[in-house]
Order: sequence, then C-alpha cells, then structure tokens
Amino acid sequence: MSENALIQMRNLSKTFLHRGRELNVLRSVDLTIQAGDRVAIMGSSGAGKSTLLQIMGTLDSPSAGQLLFNGEEIFKRSEKSLAKFRNEHVGFVFQFHHLLPEFTALENVMMPGLIHRQKRAEAENHATELLEKVGLKERLHHQPGELSGGEQQRVAIARALFMKPRILLADEPTGNLDLTTGGEIHGLLRELNESTGITVVVVTHDPMLANQMDVRLLVDDGEIIPMVTGDPKVGDRVPEALLHRKPTRPI
Ligand code: ADP
Ligand code: MG
Repeated sequence: MSENALIQMRNLSKTFLHRGRELNVLRSVDLTIQAGDRVAIMGSSGAGKSTLLQIMGTLDSPSAGQLLFNGEEIFKRSEKSLAKFRNEHVGFVFQFHHLLPEFTALENVMMPGLIHRQKRAEAENHATELLEKVGLKERLHHQPGELSGGEQQRVAIARALFMKPRILLADEPTGNLDLTTGGEIHGLLRELNESTGITVVVVTHDPMLANQMDVRLLVDDGEIIPMVTGDPKVGDRVPEALLHRKPTRPI
C-alpha cells in the first residue's frame, strides 16, 4: 500500500432501493487516489459519477465496503465528527454554483469563515487572497448575477477552498460553460493543484478537459475503469489499485 494514499475505496458498493427494485450503482469499487493527484472522472449520464463523488466526500455513505481517508476508515466516525471532517478537509464545487445571489463574491467566499465564527477581518483577508488566486481581484464586490458563468464558478472554487481542504471534489463544474471557459476552469484547477498540492477530483463529460488531469477514470456499469490517451506527455498513470483491471480504454 502506498504511503501517500489520500483516499481508498475498498470493495465499495452502493445500491439504491427504488420502488422496490435494487439499483446497483457502484459494484465492488477498489480505487486509490494519491495525495496531490489530479483526477478526471468520466462516464455517461446516470453511470454513478455523482454517487462516487458524494461518497468520496462523505455526503453519502456506501452500502458495503470501506472508504479510507489517510488510512482511517472514515464512516466509523459519528455523524458529528463526520460533519467536522467534511468541513475541514473536503471542498465541493457543483455544476450550478449555489452562490447566494444577494451577497457579493467576497461575502460568498468568506461565508464558511463567518459560519465557523472566524473574525470578520481575518475571513475577509483570506477570502480576498483566494479571489485573487482564482483571478477575480477586480470582482470582489460583484454579486453572482453581475458575473459571467466562468467567473461564478471561480467564486465557487474560491469558496470551496476557504477552509483549506485536502481535497477538492468538483461535479461537472464546467457542465454549464462553453468549451473555452470550461478549459479555463480546468486550467485553474490544475494551477491550484500545482501551487498548493491540493488533490483534485473533477467529473467532466469532455475528453479534452479530462486530458488536463493526470489520472482519468471511467465509471461504467458500476465499475471504475482507468483510461489512457496514448500520449506519454500527458503523464498517464494508472492508479495502482486498478492495475489488475484489464484493459484500459483509449479516449
Ligand atoms: P451520474 O452522476 O453519473 O449521472 P448518478 O450518480 O447521479 O449518475 O446516478 C447514478 C444512478 O443512481 C442513476 O441511475 C440514478 O437514477 C440513481 N440514483 C442516484 N441517486 C439516487 C437516489 N437517491 N435514489 C435512487 N436512485 C438514485
Ligand atoms: Mg452527476
């Protein structure tokens, strides 16, 4: 086992019970994500990508199997301790930014700080730094409605980073954006990963965007299949837990 494994799924399954029928969305998933990895998750609609991400972020629990975070079996914690863990270590970004429309970019980003009773000036400084980092130095006092789609997602990313999480989980953050803007958002995720070492897991439908990440996984019929591009420059690396799986698919 690798020392740098941040997230490990072991024989993890998720079954939804829907109108009396069992829906096996994830089947015995074995997956290791190393600290500092940049991971793209692809797969058709309904394949189970969001479910995988929700479980990774402890917003949902598996039906069977384990989720290890830094080697710790995380679902053994109490609900309260799990919520604390999530607040401190996991950042989420969604397709729709979920920013509060009546607040400015700065207020939206500093919100987690205020919720956690940080001093206002401290929270404001930290939020300002983050907004600068995501390229929005000139947009601190704009409300979401006064920002472009790409800028709104940058604010959502800055907000997700506020608590200095170890991992950023982004579920189709570019689903609502044109390809160029989507490319810029993926570029930003890449930059953040390089400058801070944060682990990034991003769901995308676009192979070009997926190519900006080092590890690419396909969710297919409840299984996770590594993908390769055949371009050695991209730095393909098949997660070690998946090496036993045949064959990797070109995209
Ligand atoms: P994706 O993000 O890849 O489009 P999801 O993970 O959202 O897919 O969903 C995977 C499958 O699980 C879908 O068939 C969906 O209908 C089903 N599903 C998701 N959440 C629930 C739920 N809470 N109850 C029942 N079925 C669900
Ligand atoms: Mg989804």
